[in-house]
Amino acid sequence: MAGIGLCWPSKLTNKPTLMSSSSVPRSSSSSPRCCLSSVKMTVSVDDKKKTFTLKKSEEAFNAAKELMPGGVNSPVRAFKSVGGQPIIIDSVKGSHMFDIDGNEYIDYVGSWGPAIIGHADDEVLAALAETMKKGTSFGAPCLLENVLAKMVIEAVPSIEMVRFVNSGTEACMGVLRLARAFTGKTKIVKFEGCYHGHADPFLVKAGSGVATLGLPDSPGVPKSATSDTLTSPYNDIATVESLFSAHKGEIAAVILEPVVGNSGFITPKPEFLSFLQKITKENDALLIFDEVMTGFRLAYGGAQEYYGITPDLTTLGKIIGGGLPVGAYGGRREIMEMVAPAGPMYQAGTLSGNPLAMTAGIHTLKRLQGSGTYEYLDKITGQLVEGIVNAGKKAGHAICGGHISGMFGFFFTDGPVYSFEDAKKSDTAKFAKFYRGMLEEGVYFAPSQFEAGFTGLAHTQEDIQRTIDAAEKVLKQL
Ligand code: PMP
Repeated sequence: MAGIGLCWPSKLTNKPTLMSSSSVPRSSSSSPRCCLSSVKMTVSVDDKKKTFTLKKSEEAFNAAKELMPGGVNSPVRAFKSVGGQPIIIDSVKGSHMFDIDGNEYIDYVGSWGPAIIGHADDEVLAALAETMKKGTSFGAPCLLENVLAKMVIEAVPSIEMVRFVNSGTEACMGVLRLARAFTGKTKIVKFEGCYHGHADPFLVKAGSGVATLGLPDSPGVPKSATSDTLTSPYNDIATVESLFSAHKGEIAAVILEPVVGNSGFITPKPEFLSFLQKITKENDALLIFDEVMTGFRLAYGGAQEYYGITPDLTTLGKIIGGGLPVGAYGGRREIMEMVAPAGPMYQAGTLSGNPLAMTAGIHTLKRLQGSGTYEYLDKITGQLVEGIVNAGKKAGHAICGGHISGMFGFFFTDGPVYSFEDAKKSDTAKFAKFYRGMLEEGVYFAPSQFEAGFTGLAHTQEDIQRTIDAAEKVLKQL
């Protein structure tokens, strides 16, 4: 495994030669060629040797550890499950990231989902600059909220009214209170390996960083906060049935990631979502799709459009803020009218609906409305996953993977993976080695086996091919 501070020869150059695909649906004003040439490199790199180091990242991370717990402001970023130290990012553009040592990476994290049209998109940046001239936060209503609300309502089948908040965590906290307020019941069903933000009631068998760090629960979460949280393995119809019969009349809602991204990429079995819709209806409970990750990613209308199953309530985040802090929850009008000040269920936010987040969201969604968007994402992501899985098999590894549109994942196990238990069969030590190898080849995946990957419209065929070539090389060496 390569240690931080080592030098390595990189495949990638600092030259803006990476995004030449003409098949990418995007407007002419966001030509990646002109974007990349404006990226400020912090370090001059000896082009002849093409030798890069992580010396500056190492120094910065050592300093960060003295200043912030674990040196980061969100746990998975710390690279604990893949070893070594994280790279410190200087700038992002299109499908690429640049670290403070001047290294360049093809990025498949996309800020954990928001960067679906590419990082630092020119149109989004220009729109933000315009909005900023009028101020950054009003703490009062603005027209931009109406615009984004209308776009979300028109796109997402279950949403007739929406409340904007500042993060996915907040969206899930709000939707839980709303489901309890509307039904007058308190228990919820969540699934093992699904992550719904870091609020107390959801930190039971949660995925994402909780899975990555091997924390079954978190200290500081009182028993009383999770005593109404019932859990079931994902895709397990029998367990959900038994929970409903053991807790008759007590369950307010079932919440899930309709496609899981927080224990790696896991899809629902064909009958699973329709079963959940049926059992919640029969028991006067609400079905909540947490589409913080899948919203506007699997399809413009999210997983609910993709699978044709309309839940009662939906949470959103990530993409609808175009890279600025945002979240939202929405659903049927009769339910949403319980939210204050229309109704008695209290929820509020100082910066909610702020003009900058609304602007970035509006322009990101506008771009996604372009023709061929999701077909393009599906095509390149399919090629990527197929290429990696085939390379793995050819090199003799147990490996499986999948994708829908621009969301994907692969596990070092034969599979199939339908639950967190299945996902945990993956060889995480092998993943860590693969991860470090790919990083050295200039490819940045999520630094955990238990996180999905993301592509965006800025990824080119060349990016995908380079990634597959790198994977072939690294997988042979494992
Ligand atoms: N729900 C899901 C499905 C998520 O993937 C996440 C974050 N990855 C959250 C909720 C929490 O969102 P945030 O990090 O914005 O609080």
